[in-house]
Amino acid sequence: MSPARRIVICGGGAIGAATAYFLSRRGAEPIVIERHEVAGSASGKSGGFLALDWCRGSPLDGLARRSFALHAELADTLGNPWGYRRLDTYGGYAVAGDGALGPGERPWLSEAVTLTGRLGSPETTAIVDPRAFTRGLMAAAETLGGTLRHGRAIDLVRDQGGGARGVVLEDGEVVEGDAVVIAMGPWSILATRWLPLPAVYGYKGHSLIFRTGEAIAAEALFLEYQEASGEVLTPEIFPRADGTTWVCAVSSTEPLPVDPAQVFPDEGAHDRLEAMCRTISPALATAPITARQACFRPVTDDGLPLIGAVLGVDGAFVATGHSVWGMLNAPATGEAMAELILDGAARQVDVRPFAAGRLRALDPKRLRSA
Ligand SMILES: Cc1cc2nc3c(=O)[nH]c(=O)nc-3n(C[C@H](O)[C@H](O)[C@H](O)COP(=O)(O)OP(=O)(O)OC[C@H]3O[C@@H](n4cnc5c(N)ncnc54)[C@H](O)[C@@H]3O)c2cc1C
Repeated sequence: MSPARRIVICGGGAIGAATAYFLSRRGAEPIVIERHEVAGSASGKSGGFLALDWCRGSPLDGLARRSFALHAELADTLGNPWGYRRLDTYGGYAVAGDGALGPGERPWLSEAVTLTGRLGSPETTAIVDPRAFTRGLMAAAETLGGTLRHGRAIDLVRDQGGGARGVVLEDGEVVEGDAVVIAMGPWSILATRWLPLPAVYGYKGHSLIFRTGEAIAAEALFLEYQEASGEVLTPEIFPRADGTTWVCAVSSTEPLPVDPAQVFPDEGAHDRLEAMCRTISPALATAPITARQACFRPVTDDGLPLIGAVLGVDGAFVATGHSVWGMLNAPATGEAMAELILDGAARQVDVRPFAAGRLRALDPKRLRSA
């Protein structure tokens, strides 16, 4: 087979955009098919927190370390329109109480919060605005010859030998290519109708974005927070370079809607988040909220991503299932995908632990009609 040049990527999240970027950097022609909007799902709504060594002891360690280095390089090379910045990171706890709360260890934190330790330094932790990052990579790929197409991929085009040679869109149009990459986040489960792929599930999370200006220092926080009901939440608080602060907590097992445009918050989830923010930070209590968000992260049965060729189908590849580290691991995943597709093997990172064939392919009959 001649080397793949025209590669159809299904999904315009961080993983699809990073794959497109690294392919275009190598002179290939990626075509990203996105059914909703680039970064319209978790890749636009996540925390965008990055850590060098928080995956140590796991097969993800090499991918995470390479990605952490690539994030710095990408911000440098592409002018950093996504607010990449290094920061300190702390852990701690807070308990909901009655009455007014005075200032605590930091002027922007209330006395309800106790910080227990430093989890990361500017050498080991950083942050990006995930939407700007994903869109920035997609735009950079387009500058280098990549294409973005709006449309819903609904099937695979196969050659006479059964190999993947493009995708069929909902309107019947065929987008041809030398290879196809499934990067549809949690919606990759729908591609099990076309390809022998393991299941990918969606886990829902809620977040708020506050306009905090200079009121909150460049410090990320991971807390345990006990609500008045006794339930414990694990909020993450990430101040961004653009003067906003992203806060998440309240996960749920609500089912993934078939249409990414139909992801809505669970009833009451944002009220709980807002109440928590008022307790832990006087700065958050008074800051305007600019976004109330919900999104699903893609998760596999063993918690590791799927990165590699689809067994038995020439020209078919998958890159998804990155769970809580999809923003961190997008760059090294994109780089590895470009190497796998163009060179036949990944060189920078050992992606063999992420081979899709390690997990049993889902029987498509188990998918309800959607
Ligand atoms: C609350 C929350 C906080 C998080 N915080 C962090 C963090 O701080 N750091 C970190 O590293 N990670 C974080 N993550 C994880 C990270 O956001 C995800 O792992 C990552 O965004 C997944 O990217 P993706 O490209 O695989 O999927 P997605 O972002 O879901 O993108 C998939 C895309 O595919 C499109 N699509 C679906 N079906 C089709 C189709 N048939 N045809 C064409 N397009 C299709 C969708 O519209 C979507 O745009 C967080 C996740 C959540 C939920």
